[in-house]
Amino acid sequence: MKISEEIKKLVPYQPGKPIEETKREYGLTDVVKLASNENPLGPSPKVLEAIQRAALEVHRYPDGAAYELKKVCADHFGVTEKQLLFGNGSNELIDLLIRLYCLPGDKIITSQAAFIAYKICAQAARVETIEVPLRSDFVFDFEKLTERIQNDWSESHKLIFIPNPNNPTGTYVGQSEVKKFLDQFGSRDDMMIVFDEAYSEYVTAEDHPNALDFIGEYQNVIVLRTLSKAYGLAALRVGIMFASEEVIDLLDRIRMPFNVNSLAQEAAIAALKDIEYVQKSREVNSEGLRYFYDSLNQLQISYVPSQGNFVLFESPLEAGELVEKMLKKGVILRPLKGYGFDKHVRMSVGLADENQKAISALSEVLGRSL
Ligand code: PMP
Repeated sequence: MKISEEIKKLVPYQPGKPIEETKREYGLTDVVKLASNENPLGPSPKVLEAIQRAALEVHRYPDGAAYELKKVCADHFGVTEKQLLFGNGSNELIDLLIRLYCLPGDKIITSQAAFIAYKICAQAARVETIEVPLRSDFVFDFEKLTERIQNDWSESHKLIFIPNPNNPTGTYVGQSEVKKFLDQFGSRDDMMIVFDEAYSEYVTAEDHPNALDFIGEYQNVIVLRTLSKAYGLAALRVGIMFASEEVIDLLDRIRMPFNVNSLAQEAAIAALKDIEYVQKSREVNSEGLRYFYDSLNQLQISYVPSQGNFVLFESPLEAGELVEKMLKKGVILRPLKGYGFDKHVRMSVGLADENQKAISALSEVLGRSL
C-alpha cells in the first residue's frame, strides 16, 4: 500500500519522559517531573469524588451530547451551549479544525516555535504549516503575520493558530495588537482565527486579551481552552472549544460520538465548580515562577518571562546534555529540539520542594553556586 510522504516524514509528538521510566532507567527512587506543564497540586478532592460516583456507571456509554457539562460550562464562561464543543483534550479540537477546514495541499499559519501540535496535526492531514519568524524577544510577530496575510493569502490558506500565551516560550500578544489584527481580518470569511488559550488561567499580564470576548463580535474567531492545566485534569483529556453556532454544528458532525468519556465529563463538571482549586493553582504557580526567576538570575541563566506554568531558559550547555545530566539527578525537564531550540530548555513549575530540587540540581550540574 502506498503511504504518503507527509506521513512517512511525520515525527510524532514527543511527550515529557514519564517518572516511572526515569526511575527504571537511571536506578532512582526520587524523581521530579517538570516536563509536561502539569498541575503539581494533584487532583482536586471534589474531582476524585465525582470520578468515584461516575465509575459506577462505566458499563454505560457516555452522554454523547455532554448535556450537563455543556450547561455548567456555558454558565461558567458566560456563553451559550450552542457555542461549545468538547474534545479529547484541546489537541483533538486542533485536529478536528484542520480536518474540517483543510484539504490536502492547503495551508495553516502560525508562529515559529508555536505549540507543535498544530504542525503535527496539519502534516497528518497533508496540510502545510507556514511559520511566521519569531521576534527576538520570543513573541509571536503580529507585524510579520499581518504582512504575510496581506502579501500572500490565497484560497489554500485556511486557519491561523495563535497560542496566547504560547508554549514553550511563555510569551503573549497584548490586547492592542490582537484588536488591531481583528479589526483588519476579523470579518473575513476566507480564514478562521484560532486563539489557543490553554494557559489563560495563569496569565497575570493585564494587557493579555481574553479571546472569549471576541466570540460574539467576530464570526471567524475560535477559542480553545483546556482543563489539563489549571484545572488539573490532564489524564482525563478535556478540551473546550468556543465558536459560533455554525462552526460548532459543522464540527459536531465529524467528531467521534463519544469523544469525551463519562469519567472525564463528571470530573470536568466538578473541576469547573472548584473555584478554590484553580485559585490555589494560580498562587502556587506565581510563587514558583518568582522562585525560578530569582534562582535563574543567581545562576546567571537568562530566561523568558512567562505567562504560563513553565519557564523557557537558555542552557549554558547544549540542551540535550543538560537534560541528560538533570535526569541523572532525578529531574525531568523538556528539551525542545522539535521546536528548533538547541540551547533552550523548558521547566514546568512544580511544588516548592520540587522546584528547589530542580534548582539545586541545576546549580550542581553547572557548577554555579546559588
Ligand atoms: N495548546 C497548548 C498551547 C498546549 O501547551 C497544550 C498542552 N501542552 C495543548 C494545547 C493541549 O492540551 P490538551 O490536549 O491536554 O488539552
